[in-house]
Amino acid sequence: MNLEDNITSIKGIGQKTSDLFHHIGIYKISDLIYTYPRKYVTYEEPVDIASASDGERHAIMAIIVSHPEVKKVRNLTITSVSVRDATGSVRITWFNSPFMKNVFHKGDTFIFVGEIKIKNNMRVMDMPEYYTLEKYKEMTKVWQPVYPLTHGLSNKTFQKAVKGAVEVIQNTEDYLTVEVRNEYELMPRNKALYNMHFPKDEENLVRAIKRMAFDEFLSFLYEMRKIKKENAVIFSTHKVNPDIYEKLTGFINNLPFKLTDAQKRSVNEIYEDMKSDSIMNRLLQGDVGSGKTIVAAAALYVTVISGWQGALMVPTEVLAYQHFNDLKKVFQPYNIAVECLTGATPVKEKRKIYEKLKNHEIDIIIGTHALIQEGVEYHDLGLVITDEQHRFGVRQRKKLSEKGNFPHMLVMSATPIPRTLAIIMYADLDISIIDELPKGRIPIKNCVVGTEYRRTSYNFILSEVKKGHQAYVICPLVEESEVLDAENVIEYAEKMKGYYGDSVRVRYLHGKMSNEEKNEILQEFVNRETDVLVSTTVIEVGINNPNATVMMIENSERFGLAQLHQLRGRVGRGSEQSYCIFINGKKSKESTERLMVLKNSNDGFYIASEDLKLRGPGDFFGIRQSGEFMFKLADIYNHADMLKKAQEVIFKYENIFEDTENKSVPLSIL
Ligand code: ADP
Ligand code: MG
Repeated sequence: MNLEDNITSIKGIGQKTSDLFHHIGIYKISDLIYTYPRKYVTYEEPVDIASASDGERHAIMAIIVSHPEVKKVRNLTITSVSVRDATGSVRITWFNSPFMKNVFHKGDTFIFVGEIKIKNNMRVMDMPEYYTLEKYKEMTKVWQPVYPLTHGLSNKTFQKAVKGAVEVIQNTEDYLTVEVRNEYELMPRNKALYNMHFPKDEENLVRAIKRMAFDEFLSFLYEMRKIKKENAVIFSTHKVNPDIYEKLTGFINNLPFKLTDAQKRSVNEIYEDMKSDSIMNRLLQGDVGSGKTIVAAAALYVTVISGWQGALMVPTEVLAYQHFNDLKKVFQPYNIAVECLTGATPVKEKRKIYEKLKNHEIDIIIGTHALIQEGVEYHDLGLVITDEQHRFGVRQRKKLSEKGNFPHMLVMSATPIPRTLAIIMYADLDISIIDELPKGRIPIKNCVVGTEYRRTSYNFILSEVKKGHQAYVICPLVEESEVLDAENVIEYAEKMKGYYGDSVRVRYLHGKMSNEEKNEILQEFVNRETDVLVSTTVIEVGINNPNATVMMIENSERFGLAQLHQLRGRVGRGSEQSYCIFINGKKSKESTERLMVLKNSNDGFYIASEDLKLRGPGDFFGIRQSGEFMFKLADIYNHADMLKKAQEVIFKYENIFEDTENKSVPLSIL
């Protein structure tokens, strides 16, 4: 058995199970063993029933005090039984599992693990896991992996599959020598991979994660270093003539607002780069709403008046169209031709754009990955920009610049990353930082409230709408889910429509819609033809509608702090007071504590650092993962030590990697 084999070569995985794995992108054994658990749970010592608080997962040790009762309600079979310990009682219920009545007998004692809820003054637990006392005793202190699942694929099946591939894990080669591993206190790769799936204990798990994070950083830095080497000796093929400075000043003075000092500084740094002897490779970093787009526009302007073309690549179509609309306006007075190209552009239209790009009838092209497709050729590409850089791999960035003859490169990011780490992560780039917000911005007012505050929130939104403002409401799900207990966009929008009647125009948006539909809905929102937009997190990156003043986030507890900060960044972009309402759907102490960080600060750096401190045991990956860089588990904050080690190893043992190139250095994440 080896990495490339199909998962069906694992004993016990037949066609049916393998189909389920395909749903989550697992085909080969390598896919399986490099799909890490989402989290790990340990089984705690049972708690007293009386001390179990509402909505938290707990284990209780209880004696069965009633005969199991089976009821049929419509097409649902409900089996329930009462249990108690010395401090209180709980009513336990299973759905569609009538056989449960044969498992439980009055007088037996079991450990039940599940979420305790208080309903009508009674403690209840639905569908708990249950264990005999002996079995449970074995399980406490063991870290159980919890895998990403799909309907029909159970955690048990997943675990069994990985177990079946254990020989491949154990045969994993290590590209680091024993000496290097010892020097940097790194676990062998096969042992680390094994512990990722079957952690012996917490200490081993932590070391395993560190090793895997190290590998991700290492391959990232390795690739980065290669690019840097290639770029090092590039004399500028697009050297800007200082004559244009006056025009650039004119462009800036003509903007409808005054640039902040930080924006001016950034524009100047870009201009200096572009007129120097070597090509620009610059990162423009600034928190959400700091005004990066207009700095990019200034760079594009310099490019176009120097006689070249510019390309701006963004991660989503929605953002592409938005930038396109905004920049068209900015460049309109200058007779500069701007176009937009995405995967959704109709083929006929696409061909026309290709043609025009080649003939230099287009000066600036804005788009998604479509910009780096084969067939796209430029006449003379002088500048490439990537927005929301962390959504792209280093390779994609490179691919875009390869479309030209050594164009200048500007990458933009809102990821709040400390300068020392940024210098490592973006080793190939110089850095400009926008560290102030445009004048006149009023800090967003935040509140963290429970679901009982919804009605008040709706009325508050109504009062803002009456002032001519708009609102976003974020729900985690697209539609109702059988497994997840969270709000969904479709039903939620209906509910809001029902509440408001005709007085408020509500529409919804989610990622499963067609591109045309998404763009239409967003355009309508930006044009103020919609008052309230109920959306999933598709609007997370970059969307700009300064007229929106309320952001209401349902099930805030389900999102990472960094993501919530991004979402909140959609408001507070104009001169009006804006508000963010975090609805906490689960009132556990942890979730409240986490959300309070956001309530108390609008500063991305601070939030990122607090996020770290609040991780619970087992929460090694955090929820941060979503969207930040392209790592599977490495986290620049959490594993800053590994990042530094990886950088040292790269410098010190350069030759190891040259020798083993394409063999065992794990470049899989790039
Ligand atoms: P981000 O850095 O998040 O990409 P944007 O570039 O989208 O931010 O800018 C956010 C909003 O601020 C936009 O509406 C933009 O027009 C506006 N803006 C940018 N710079 C300034 C400024 N110096 N003064 C006033 N408004 C500005
Ligand atoms: Mg932006």
